[in-house]
Amino acid sequence: MNCVMCKSGTLVESVTNHVVSLKDTIIIVKGVPCSECDQCGEKFYDDAVADQLEKIVRQITETTFTEIAVVAYSKDVA
Ligand SMILES: [Zn+2]
Repeated sequence: MNCVMCKSGTLVESVTNHVVSLKDTIIIVKGVPCSECDQCGEKFYDDAVADQLEKIVRQITETTFTEIAVVAYSKDVA
């Protein structure tokens, strides 16, 4: 599968840290599985991973009020 950004790179499986900046909070989700382009370094998430990231971020914004939250990526957040 080729990279949609640079069209020439190859996507390889990787893990990354996903950072979300909200108005009052910065959320860092560590160890997120992704595909990374070996040419331009662009990272892509599967739909399932992107959905899960949304759930994780939503849960944090509803339950914590810290300025910086660091969590490990988990498939278990409902
Ligand atoms: Zn690329």
